[in-house]
Amino acid sequence: MKQILSLCLMIAGLITSACHSSGSGKSKEIVSLEGQTMGTELQVQYIDSLQRDFSHELDSILIEVNNSMSTYIPNSLISIFNRMDTAGTLEVDRHFYRVLLIAKKVHRESNGAFNPALYPLIRYWGFSGGSAPDHIDSSKVDSVLKICNFDLISGTMAVSGEGDTSYYVSKQDGRAQLDFGAIAKGYGVDAVHDLLKSRGIRSLMVDIGGEVRCSGRYTDGKAWRIGIEDPVKSTINSRKATRVISLFNKAIATSGNYRNFRIVNGRKMVHTINPANGYPEMNSLLSASIVTDDCTHADAYATSCMVLGLEDAGKLISDNPQMEGMLIYGIEEGKLEYWSSPGFQEITVKD
Ligand code: AMP
Ligand code: MG
Repeated sequence: MKQILSLCLMIAGLITSACHSSGSGKSKEIVSLEGQTMGTELQVQYIDSLQRDFSHELDSILIEVNNSMSTYIPNSLISIFNRMDTAGTLEVDRHFYRVLLIAKKVHRESNGAFNPALYPLIRYWGFSGGSAPDHIDSSKVDSVLKICNFDLISGTMAVSGEGDTSYYVSKQDGRAQLDFGAIAKGYGVDAVHDLLKSRGIRSLMVDIGGEVRCSGRYTDGKAWRIGIEDPVKSTINSRKATRVISLFNKAIATSGNYRNFRIVNGRKMVHTINPANGYPEMNSLLSASIVTDDCTHADAYATSCMVLGLEDAGKLISDNPQMEGMLIYGIEEGKLEYWSSPGFQEITVKD
């Protein structure tokens, strides 16, 4: 998939992105790139007195990541892996391997709520390119669920005598398949972030579809300000923030069930699948926003929270000192309730 990035000096207005105004003369140092990637918008801003244009390099790294992990690209590594219909091993790249390792960690920490081996079920429910069933067949759900076992998939690496590293992913059953849709955007953010840092950029903000990572400070000397979408008032064309946070050398990812759903037999089926029963998970949570050091973890934890529901998600956040979070839930129709960890409250910008 070709990404198109365009260089411009404007601060674009995606609500999930930087909420600073561009009033001061210093904002001239800000370089702003916009484009499409992973089926959503990419927005990058960085401070560079040399006004360098890294769009071609960013384009290349995102093409690399997509060619590794997009299930929408027929010849991506993940698509090749998913088409292997017998047990076996595939050589993959470092992107795939890193994401697989973090996915294993979050799978363990979330007691299996995060499970990228759900691909066959995700497609059964009409997501990731599948078409929604016209009725719910519980025996089919049960039988597909049995093959969505992440333990059937493992990663290994090997270092040659010359010091070259190779990465491999194996499946014990030909039916096991992967979907990194709940973690790859966060990884894409980290890949862009790391590339810019390696080019000497110290102050930057990267946003892929609302998954964001910031480093350094904005031109006004304050941390970057990021808006969190209002799950009720926001629409795809008119995004509204319900909270603004101040993000310093951290990432934030938000998962929600308010935009991506299918109607099956008159019932709303959301895109978060509960690996415990194989069904779309509808609980009181409207969105989960997670702050961690990097965006790959934040993305995976945010999805885990949507599966776990209010109480267990709050516990997952509270039990992990590396993680802060805010959960938005609805008890009564139209009325939003908020739960935030103490660390999240600290970075929330007061009105
Ligand atoms: P996100 O927007 O990051 O929460 O990711 C949602 C996507 O993750 C869905 O569209 C599915 O492709 C995939 N997904 C759904 N349920 C799970 C789950 N329990 N574990 C991992 N990925 C999932
Ligand atoms: Mg996610």
